Amino acid sequence: MPTVVPTIIQPSLAAILALPPGISDETPESLAAWFVARGEPSFRARQVLDAAWRTGAAGPEEITTLPAPLREELVRAFRWDTVADSVLQLSDGGATEKALHRLGDGQFVESVLMHFPASAGHRERTTLCISSQVGCAVGCPFCATGELGFGRDLLASEILDQVRHAARRVAARGRRLTNIVFMGMGEPLLNLDRVLEAVEALNDPRRFGLGARHITVSTSGVVPGIRRLTGLGPQFTLAVSLHAARDPLRDVLVPLNRRWPVAEVVAAAREHADATGRRITYEVTMIGGVNDTDVDAQAMAELLRGDLAHVNLIPMNPVAHTPWTASPMPVIERFATSLRAAGIETTIRHNRGQEIGAACGQLAADHAGAPTPAVVAHRRERLVAQSAAALRGERSREPVPAAVSGARE
Ligand code: SAH
Ligand code: SF4
Repeated sequence: MPTVVPTIIQPSLAAILALPPGISDETPESLAAWFVARGEPSFRARQVLDAAWRTGAAGPEEITTLPAPLREELVRAFRWDTVADSVLQLSDGGATEKALHRLGDGQFVESVLMHFPASAGHRERTTLCISSQVGCAVGCPFCATGELGFGRDLLASEILDQVRHAARRVAARGRRLTNIVFMGMGEPLLNLDRVLEAVEALNDPRRFGLGARHITVSTSGVVPGIRRLTGLGPQFTLAVSLHAARDPLRDVLVPLNRRWPVAEVVAAAREHADATGRRITYEVTMIGGVNDTDVDAQAMAELLRGDLAHVNLIPMNPVAHTPWTASPMPVIERFATSLRAAGIETTIRHNRGQEIGAACGQLAADHAGAPTPAVVAHRRERLVAQSAAALRGERSREPVPAAVSGARE
């Protein structure tokens, strides 16, 4: 089975691994073994995991069914909450809540909680968008996270504690989390081992207990990662950030296209859909005058014709360092009409403020501070030159992003 092994050294990962493990890193089996090694009955693991995942206890000191010395030992051995230090920011009249989480080594990630009231044909939903890495190595130029560059992979506990944190806030309002999407910071398929560990905990009825159908993982197109998932069977809904069907343009919009071209990405996604029987979601961020032309719509229609697929068209959320803005709505509607004419199910996401893709990726970038005007001007110039070359149909001469070229199959 091919695996993706990032070979770049992540010094800050070493720093975080020197801290005690998160309680969310523990499986029922590993925690039972921890108790047995201390001469305690294995059912103690059940008591601790219930406190961590169900009752929302603030720490082991609240698990009154445990003898006091054991509680103290747990406090020393594990970090109960790896994202305890979090700042919230509300928008959309309280329907969207962004959380900026400070990690144990002082780095930041974000999660976004979105509430969707019941509407015709849809039940009420509370969706959490979570991060899988600090920053991102892929460097898509329209994405605020991409501009931050790559920090490090998150541990499974750091991914899961974003969920526990939100679940506690949601429970306080008498609701529960209904959906989880890996669409925050980072490329989940470049941290796949830990993402799979996290998904297992989310699925596990003894821990979070959320069905696979309620979990979506979005990738920018890491082909070996998609193939590995296909070998594992249906774990969650797979979303692929497509953005363009033509290689010269996708080379610019999603720089790992220089390593795994769009036809390979879609072929891997198709195999995944065929093997699992689960429809693929394709995400297309609509950028005015860049990827929204009739030629692009036709190319996408040809690429996806006959596939078990659903396309989401999402107006680009403006990001300070790009010269780009969202496509006008009539242009997006025209694009959707072309795809539908080819028999491809297509949805337009109108409500930008609440949109998952648009809501994610902004907060941590704000925190990192704005780039200087000179840096912004340089980036804009480069983007204009690159997209002009893409329009002429030239493949990019830019290198594959470092952490991506470091991934081996
Ligand atoms: N790295 C993964 C998952 C995180 S990004 C991926 O790229 O799929 C989640 C989604 O947000 C992606 O579809 C991405 O293209 C979208 N996105 C990023 N920046 C955006 C912006 N400025 N406007 C709209 N969507 C954006
Ligand atoms: Fe990374 Fe996804 Fe942003 Fe691209 S869109 S830079 S892959 S987080």
